[in-house]
Amino acid sequence: MPTDVDLGHHGDRDVAPGLVDLAVNVRAGAPPSWLLARLTGALGRLAAYPDQSSARAAVAARHGRPAGSVLLTAGAAEGFVLLARTLRPRRAVVVHPQFTEPEAALRAAGHEVERVVLAPPFRVGPGLVPEDADLVVVGNPTNPTSVLHPASTLSALCRPGRVVVVDEAFMDAVPGEAESLAGRSDLPGLVVVRSLTKTWGLAGLRVGYLLADPALVARLQQAQPLWPLSAPALVAVEACSAPSAVEESATWARGIVAHREHLAEALAGVPGVDVVPDARGPFLLLRTPVDVRSALRDVGFAVRRGDTFPGLGPEWARVAVRDPDTSDAFVRALRGALGQPAPAGDGGRPVGSVALVGGGPGDPALLTVRGLQLLAAADVVVADRLGPTTVLDGLAPGVKVVDASKTPGGRTVPQEETNARLVSLAREGKRVVRLKGGDPYVFARGWEELAACRAAGVPVEVVPGVTSALGAPAAADVPVTHRELAQEFVVVSGHVPPGDPRSTVDWDALARLNGTLVLLMAVDRLPAISAALVAGGRGGDTPVAVVQQGTLEGQRVLRTTLAAAGDDCARAGVRPPAVVVVGAVAGLVAG
Ligand code: SAH
Repeated sequence: MPTDVDLGHHGDRDVAPGLVDLAVNVRAGAPPSWLLARLTGALGRLAAYPDQSSARAAVAARHGRPAGSVLLTAGAAEGFVLLARTLRPRRAVVVHPQFTEPEAALRAAGHEVERVVLAPPFRVGPGLVPEDADLVVVGNPTNPTSVLHPASTLSALCRPGRVVVVDEAFMDAVPGEAESLAGRSDLPGLVVVRSLTKTWGLAGLRVGYLLADPALVARLQQAQPLWPLSAPALVAVEACSAPSAVEESATWARGIVAHREHLAEALAGVPGVDVVPDARGPFLLLRTPVDVRSALRDVGFAVRRGDTFPGLGPEWARVAVRDPDTSDAFVRALRGALGQPAPAGDGGRPVGSVALVGGGPGDPALLTVRGLQLLAAADVVVADRLGPTTVLDGLAPGVKVVDASKTPGGRTVPQEETNARLVSLAREGKRVVRLKGGDPYVFARGWEELAACRAAGVPVEVVPGVTSALGAPAAADVPVTHRELAQEFVVVSGHVPPGDPRSTVDWDALARLNGTLVLLMAVDRLPAISAALVAGGRGGDTPVAVVQQGTLEGQRVLRTTLAAAGDDCARAGVRPPAVVVVGAVAGLVAG
């Protein structure tokens, strides 16, 4: 394929774990819950072949067009491929810079493609498109420039004998869908391509459609396989075309406007950075004096590279519009990447980062390679009492260690204080490692810390760790599963006792299990817990192993039974941290 740029590059390739994603233009990480519920409901009806009629009718009604004008496609991408494979253009013109998939599809189908490359400020003007072009592709609002062309300019491109494809994949980010041509049945050769993936967090479902005159729709449809959209995809198309969904997306579009203005204003204060003016999409295109992408990555931000769009070079980047805090953090990072000091009164220094590192049960040798790398590069380590505390002694001089478990006065640090601390340290530009015992998400409030960082626009990475729920039994020769004895294991918190109104644990259900129960934070509650399990039907003679200080020098293992566990632990003076394993596996002895 003779092209000078990588037309197959998309924003998802610019993103990596731990980076704040400003590269991909989807609104949300997941569909809203009402839509998820509709999709989940559709899964019960998968035995039937998909029937398009009501989805098609819903799209037709949304745009005030006959159902015959609607072709449902597996995302806008399928629309481009169908057009490329069906049309036989003599002179195909793609107006750039724009989304590269239409050109890639045309070339893949064997067509020559001519580029009309717009210069900043990237507006289509009269005379730019050759008179005899019989296929013209243009985006509105255009990805990546964020330019919204007037409907009158684009409709003036339409004429008999020419197909004009308007990619409106981002039109629902424009309040009132101003300048959309989707409702126009009167323009000869007009094809409007729409996507539902961005607004509704459905990129993985592949849903979109195109609107064209019924004769062309019929031709394109012949190039589609039977049942091109799955039943859940059709449910999504119908649901997202309903008036209430259209209203929801309009509300979102109005929110985008405010957030975009915030970002544009903040960028306007950065010397040397030019933003393409009058942006109308959910992203901005900007030009910097030098390529800042790798410097931005180093401080935790992913932006969409510009150089894979014809007409742009490495000094261009597309940046998604996000909430004001994230935008502010990005602009600070951008200043840092350009070697500029923060302006006086901004309060912002280069953004640091937070890594939530699972440190394993205690033996420092059970830290992950990634965890160790991050510790080696850290400015500050915020640690707990549990986990591999001895690695703290080996940190480079000058690395600050903050104890998140207790203040010097002995007070337990509230979680909110730790969250705020992580954010403020990162905002001072520090690389912060939040070292947690075991795994950051197993009874460890890692989620709250992640959410606090995300909400503050602080780049955050999560590194899983060996949980003590598995590591402590393993270190004590207790396998949590066994081919014959235990085909399941359940990890349970004993933090609140059975019968406590705060408990969400169904102890009766656990008592009916045959497999392994792994109890954390259970030492003090063991009498109450074992009584509840026995009362629920688990045998009093069920083997129990209590692993204290698992993987650490002071590791001790107590073998007992469910009925005797409470008394035996008290007598032996077992103290936290300990993991209690209940089940036949706790009675195994290896030779
Ligand atoms: N996130 C941690 C668990 C935190 S809850 C993890 O994944 O391991 C704290 C509980 O973990 C303790 O009460 C104890 O039950 C268990 N625990 C942590 N470290 C331990 C160790 N070295 N040995 C035994 N139990 C341990």
